[in-house]
Amino acid sequence: MNSSFAGVIASEAINLFTNRQNVRVCFASESGWSKPFLSIIKNAKPSTPEFRNIVVEAILNNFNSSATGIQYSFIGVCDKTSENVDAVVVYQESGGGQTFYDSRELWGLPYRDRRPYIVMGPGSESEGSKASNDYIYSTAIHEFAHLSGIGHEHLRGEALEDSNCNFIEHDMLRRLKIFGHLGSLKQSTKNYTLTGSYDPYSITNYCYTAFLEATSPGTRPELSAGDRSTLLNISF
Ligand SMILES: [Zn+2]
Repeated sequence: MNSSFAGVIASEAINLFTNRQNVRVCFASESGWSKPFLSIIKNAKPSTPEFRNIVVEAILNNFNSSATGIQYSFIGVCDKTSENVDAVVVYQESGGGQTFYDSRELWGLPYRDRRPYIVMGPGSESEGSKASNDYIYSTAIHEFAHLSGIGHEHLRGEALEDSNCNFIEHDMLRRLKIFGHLGSLKQSTKNYTLTGSYDPYSITNYCYTAFLEATSPGTRPELSAGDRSTLLNISF
């Protein structure tokens, strides 16, 4: 058994891209068709060159045809000629990261704007600091892992039993219960398929990235062996 083949695969991912060997991505800008994204999304702004450089470095370091079976190419900021890109990155100064597969449904955009997009940014750390750059780097890999088809590994039941991040997982479950989000998260896993055994080192495992931050600050998490194997084994 290949124990590194482990992951949570999103069923929608199968229909996302026609050519996984060349998934074209641009950064939302005010100069072209992507301008509406900047006004719809709270705190969204045109991205800085430094932000774009870190995202591109993170993704090209971690995803390519031979290692993950999916190859991204970046065409810079979106302009009028990039209307047919496969995905859009939106810079959000307040940080965090979200990946939406269907922008039309969420934001009421016209059908031609139906494409996945990633909303992310540097968060509360001041831009340019190492902590901020590391945050952007790992968030980019996490979000592009979602874009590639991987769901949240910590939502698996086995995550509760992992000794490395047990306390963090329990804390997260407690918070989710307080805010009443647990039901919707559980429901969202209906569209996901579990493969292999639990991978505690997945980039999509909240408790592992939090564990790394607590025990080895400055270590930038990358795609795990399990993540790469999962992506390679997805048959599209
Ligand atoms: Zn996530």
